[in-house]
Amino acid sequence: MSHRFKNARRIVVKIGSALLNDLENQRLNRTWLEALCDDVEMCRKRGQEVVIVSSGAIAMGRNALGLGASTLKLEESQAAAAVGQVALAHAWSRALKERGIEAAQVLLTLEDTEERRRYLNARGTLFALLKLGAVPVINENDTVATSEIRYGDNDRLAARVAGMISADCLVLLSDVDGVYTCDPALGKGGKLLPEIPELTPEIWAMAGDSGSALSRGGMVTKLEAARMAQSAGAHMVITSGKNLRPLSRLQTGGKCTWIPAREAPMAARKKWIAGSLKPNGALIVDSGAANALMNGKSLLSAGVSGIEGRFEKGDAVRIMDCQNNEIGRGIIAYSHIEADKIRGNGSDRIEDILGYAGRTEIIHRDDLVITGRQG
Ligand code: GLU
Repeated sequence: MSHRFKNARRIVVKIGSALLNDLENQRLNRTWLEALCDDVEMCRKRGQEVVIVSSGAIAMGRNALGLGASTLKLEESQAAAAVGQVALAHAWSRALKERGIEAAQVLLTLEDTEERRRYLNARGTLFALLKLGAVPVINENDTVATSEIRYGDNDRLAARVAGMISADCLVLLSDVDGVYTCDPALGKGGKLLPEIPELTPEIWAMAGDSGSALSRGGMVTKLEAARMAQSAGAHMVITSGKNLRPLSRLQTGGKCTWIPAREAPMAARKKWIAGSLKPNGALIVDSGAANALMNGKSLLSAGVSGIEGRFEKGDAVRIMDCQNNEIGRGIIAYSHIEADKIRGNGSDRIEDILGYAGRTEIIHRDDLVITGRQG
């Protein structure tokens, strides 16, 4: 099953605070970080794109501020995050740079991943970074996220990021090496589950039971992350990050639990566009554009002859032919006002007309699904 990791095109690796922080000595575990960066370099050398979701800001900041081990008030943990994030980003940047890789700090809030327009912006930035060869190092923007609207755990943030960028593999590096049938420490013969093909009610019940092994290491949020990853078409794996080079160990058959996806990320994304998003308007396209769409091309402003309804950038819209048949649906890169101004014009005119440069495609082919009859 390690082929799921080796063959992945785009991998998100989530790293828990306990791995990066040497709690006993109250400092960053540099040896571990260096070794992980060797793993990242290995992936990059064979053409894989890597995104890191790194926890550890609060733990690092609390040490620096002398906040001790007691439970922190919200504003204290936000202050700790503000201090710790500087050191965290610096450590990643330095270790990756030594391997010829640029690190890019990306701090996200829940709204950045849920609110459509902000989601599109964050996604665009991450794609640009990957295209430019950088490794995004993501954390929740704890300093500004308020308690009601925050992830609070990076497992689910990492799963959302995996969905956002259509990653095909999500690795959760944890302090447990996977999911067990029951706590091995109880001596009852608890066995590691190498694969959970389905998140059954039994699995959820085990995770929710505070006495079981599954509830350890925040297993509920890990299963929630798995559900999010699955619906986005990403295989998820939970493995221990306690030893050095955990990604190399994973690919040579180290202990782990896989929660596989049933479809590829792009298929999952298209299903979401076609089935879950409520269209807010429509674009009418000419026959040339209709043919191009059927052949898997993006929709350009030149092929749009009319606009119906009101929509914002990031909304779903219907794509109709001149006979009023639905051809497809997609996520539009412009508002109805902008779309109306640029329709019928070539993409090279967009900047002149709007006064700013937008996306070349009015709907990119990755954001578009053909729903009408083909041919
Ligand atoms: N964002 C938090 C931090 O950097 C970590 C959240 C988590 O551990 O999942 O400290």
